[in-house]
Amino acid sequence: MQAELRRVKAEGGWGAIFTEYVAIAPEDDVLPFVLGTIWDDDDVANLALMCDAVHEHEALAGIELGYGGAHSPNRQSRLVPRAPTQHAAEAQHGWLTYTTAAASSDEVRAMQKLHVDAAIRAREAGFDIMGVYGGHGQGPMQFLSPYFNKRTDEYGGSFENRSRFWLELLEGVKEAVGDECAIACRLAVDDLRPVNGVTIEETLRLIELCDELVDLWDLTIGDQEWGEDLGTSRFYGEDHQGEWQRVVREHTSKPLVGVGRYTSPDTMVSIIRSGQLDIIGAARPSIADPFLPRKINEGRLDDIRECIGCNACVARWDSFAPIVCTQNATMGEEYRRGWHPERFSQASNAQNDVLVVGAGPAGMECARVLGERGMRRIHLLDLEDEIGGSVRWISQLPGLGEWRRVINYRQLQLEKLKNVEVILRQELDVDAVLDYGAELVVIATGSSFALDGDNYVTREAIPGIDATQPHCLTPEQIMRGGKSVPGDHVVVFDADGYVAGIGLSERLRREGKAVTYVTPFSSVGAYTMYTGEYPIVARRFHELGIEVRTETMVTSVAPGTVTTEYLYEESALRHFPDPDGNVRESHAQPVSIDADAIVVVGTRWSDDRLFHALNARKDEWDDVGIADVFRVGDCVAPRQIADVVFDGHRLAREIDEPNPHVARPYLRERRLVERLTSTA
Ligand code: SF4
Repeated sequence: MQAELRRVKAEGGWGAIFTEYVAIAPEDDVLPFVLGTIWDDDDVANLALMCDAVHEHEALAGIELGYGGAHSPNRQSRLVPRAPTQHAAEAQHGWLTYTTAAASSDEVRAMQKLHVDAAIRAREAGFDIMGVYGGHGQGPMQFLSPYFNKRTDEYGGSFENRSRFWLELLEGVKEAVGDECAIACRLAVDDLRPVNGVTIEETLRLIELCDELVDLWDLTIGDQEWGEDLGTSRFYGEDHQGEWQRVVREHTSKPLVGVGRYTSPDTMVSIIRSGQLDIIGAARPSIADPFLPRKINEGRLDDIRECIGCNACVARWDSFAPIVCTQNATMGEEYRRGWHPERFSQASNAQNDVLVVGAGPAGMECARVLGERGMRRIHLLDLEDEIGGSVRWISQLPGLGEWRRVINYRQLQLEKLKNVEVILRQELDVDAVLDYGAELVVIATGSSFALDGDNYVTREAIPGIDATQPHCLTPEQIMRGGKSVPGDHVVVFDADGYVAGIGLSERLRREGKAVTYVTPFSSVGAYTMYTGEYPIVARRFHELGIEVRTETMVTSVAPGTVTTEYLYEESALRHFPDPDGNVRESHAQPVSIDADAIVVVGTRWSDDRLFHALNARKDEWDDVGIADVFRVGDCVAPRQIADVVFDGHRLAREIDEPNPHVARPYLRERRLVERLTSTA
C-alpha cells in the first residue's frame, strides 16, 4: 500500500519521497502504531518495492531511520529499549514501558551500530537518502537532551559529551554508505521544553559540529509533543516554523529542508528566495494533493487540493489505523482499491443522468467524481444558497477557517465540469424527485444534532433538554440558524468530543460568557488526543478561563439549572441484582450548576427521510425512469468529514458496478496460509 501511495507522489512530481519513521531494530518495536521496519532482509525486499516505484518516476527515495528508545513500547518483540538513562516511556500512557540505560561505552557503540547496519540495509533496498532521525525526541536527540540524558560519563553532562553520540553515529553512517547515499539529519531546532530542553543555541552548535558529515539538514521543532511540529490550522498557519528555520542558515554550509504545511506556491517561492530553506518539505500537503508539484509546473494552481490542516491523517495513525485524508479520498486507496487521485475511467453507464440531493462534503465529492467519470448530466441540488453543507458552519468555528478549503476546492472543480450543474435554494420532496427525470438518484441530505440530549452514554434523551426551548441549543441552531445563547453563563455538554464542543466553548467564552465545559470523556475535546492538538486545546481552555468538568454526565436540565453527576458514581464492585434490577449501588452526589443556557453536543442523527420515502415508493421507479436510488455521507451515518467524502467518492467510483450499494472488496495486505485439509 505504501509503495503505491509513494509511486503516485513520485508521479505527481515530488523530487524526493521519504518513508515514514522506520524502526531500525527489534528493540525499537512500535506496534500497534503503523510504522515501517528495516530489521532484516525481508524488510529490505518490501522497502525495495517503494524505491523501485519512486525511481520509475525519477524521484529520489529517502528513508527515516529511527530508534525510539524512551518512546518504544516493544509490545511485540518484548525486548527492552535502550536510552542514555533509564526512564519511564512517557509517551505511552500507562503502558509501563521502561528503557534500560546503555550501561557502557561499548553498549552505546552497539546502539550506533544498529543505525549503521540499518543504513547498509537501506542502501541495499535502493534508498538514495539516509535520514538519521532525531526529530520528536527520538534516538540521538535523547543523548543530546538534558531532559533524557543524566549520564556522568563521556556521553553525558557537558554539550560536548551529550553531542558525542550523534557525532559518532553520523560518522558511522557516513563511512558505511556516504559514498553512495546522501545523509540527511532530522532534528528539532528547538524542542520547546521550558526546563531541561535542548536550547536553540545547543542545536546550532550541533549543526556546526556535524556539518561536514551531513548533506542535508531536515528541520523541525518540538519534542514528544509533536502537535507543535504538525501544527493544525486551528492553531498555526502556513510556515509556522519559519522563525526557527531562519536562524539555522548562518550555521551551516549544507542545504536546509523544513516543513510548515506549505500549500501556497507563492509562499514556497518566497521561502526559497529569502534563503530560509533550500527545499520545501511537505508531508500533509503531499497527502492532500500528491500532484501538487506537477500542478504548479503546469500552472494549474486552482486545481491544487490544499491541505486543510485538520490532522485527520495524523489521528488515524495515532489510533493505530491506516492513513486517510479529509481532502483526498484516494489517499491510502491507491493499492487497496486501485484509485488514482487524478485519473478517472469513463463510467460504463455514463449515458445516465444523475440527481444528487444535498451539496455537503459527500454530495459535492460524489458529484465531482461522477462528473470526472463522464456521466451525461449531473445536477447537484441544495436547499441553501451555497454549497458546503456542514462544512460551512464548522469552518466558522474559532481557528477552522482553512477547513473551508473542502468547499473551495470542490466548488472550483464543479464549475469546470461541463456536465455538472449546481442548483441552489431548491428543496425537493419525494414527488419532485420522482418527477425529476434522472435515472440515478443520490441522496446526501446529511445529519443534525439531537434536540433532546440523546448521547452515547445513556443512549437516550436527557430529562429537561429540549432544543426547541430558548435555553437549550444545538451547535447547528447557533452556527446555522443564528439562535442566540441567552444569559451570561452557559454549560457546553460535549458528548461528541471533537470540533463542535470545543469550538463553541471557545467562541462563547470569547463573546464574554462564563463557560462550563462538561464531558463524559476523560479530557477536553477527547478526539484531539489523536490529532496532536490535545495539550494546546487544554492550554487554550485554561488561558481562556473555561471551567472543565470531565467524566461528568448531565443528568437533567431545568431553566436556570444544569444537574450533573460523576460518570462513575456507582459502587466499584457489582453484585447480584437487587429486586430493582440494580447491579451496583448508587453513590450519586448530584451537582447543580447555575446556568442560563446549555449547548448540547450529543448524538447526531441522519436526515434520511427523503431516502426512505423514495424507497417506500419503489414500485413507481420504473414508470418514472429511475433505475436506482443511493445514499451517501451522513445520510447513511454521521461521521467525520474524511469518511463522508470517502463515501461520496466510493459510490461515484463504483457507480457502474453491478451493485454500487455495496462497496467492492478491497485488497488486504495479509499473510495467506494454505488451508490444511485431511484426506485420511
Ligand atoms: Fe491535510 Fe487533513 Fe488531509 Fe491531513 S487529513 S493531509 S491535515 S487535509
